[in-house]
Amino acid sequence: PTGIRQFILEVPSVSWADIGGNEELKLEIQQAVIWPQKHPEAFERFGIDPPAGILLYGPPGCSKTLIARALANEAKMNFLAVKGPELFSKWVGDSEKAIRELFSRARQVAPTIVFFDEIDAVGASRGSEKSSGVSDRVLAQLLTELDGLEKTSRVILLAATNRPDQLDSALLRPGRLDRAIHVGLPCEATRRAILQMRTRRMRFEDSASSSTIDMLVERTSGYSGAELVAVCRTAAMFAMRENIEATIVKWTHFEAALLAVVSRTEAYLLE
Ligand code: ATP
Repeated sequence: PTGIRQFILEVPSVSWADIGGNEELKLEIQQAVIWPQKHPEAFERFGIDPPAGILLYGPPGCSKTLIARALANEAKMNFLAVKGPELFSKWVGDSEKAIRELFSRARQVAPTIVFFDEIDAVGASRGSEKSSGVSDRVLAQLLTELDGLEKTSRVILLAATNRPDQLDSALLRPGRLDRAIHVGLPCEATRRAILQMRTRRMRFEDSASSSTIDMLVERTSGYSGAELVAVCRTAAMFAMRENIEATIVKWTHFEAALLAVVSRTEAYLLE
């Protein structure tokens, strides 16, 4: 079968240490995914089922994908990733089969994290503008697969979306994506952690080297993780443009970068 080969099995190289901040979030997700793997007896003792699936929702660029990959790495689980829209473009006319193959592959190589990005492309409310005959059938197939996951199959679905309001409620029933975790814009501490990580190799002009970071933290409220990374990269580029042999990134470079990288994420939240 041609489809199977197209789901690429990865061993992600991202680790928790690569994710700045988000401490509580990391803990919550670790417990939901790793505990059932490591301590199945504890779940049995209390008679509770581990989640079959977890929904990560929130604005773009705020580490949903990073978290999924770091989790697979830490839990030593295989990682299969698919993007919702891909199912319709790469597997034209065969999207249901692609879903079947995805889960069959996941079971074969278990323990596996299936990361389903942009799940709203598949799980749009039936009858809504976005849904169609095809997408309704694909959604039905996805629900069947989720319901068919044995508690012992050691396959967990991590789904991500920027548009949780558009998901069909059938996906969110118990035994399916029964945990929803909000991955929001980085708070002050998380922004600080990301900025520190991304400027680790940079030198600043200030003597107390914390002040550039302090000013950046203050000026980046509403920026997503991806936008913070862009600010750091852009500032370094400005420093190089001024002098390719520069060893220091000056505040003026950051100031220019903040003007160049305008946060669009907050605007998106208001849409
Ligand atoms: P999308 O909805 O667009 O898929 P996402 O929430 O899955 O977004 P990621 O792909 O995980 O976002 O993050 C995009 C990039 O932003 C990452 O590759 C990384 O460079 C940076 N980033 C975001 N959050 C963090 C963080 N907490 N620590 C370090 N880097 C981050």
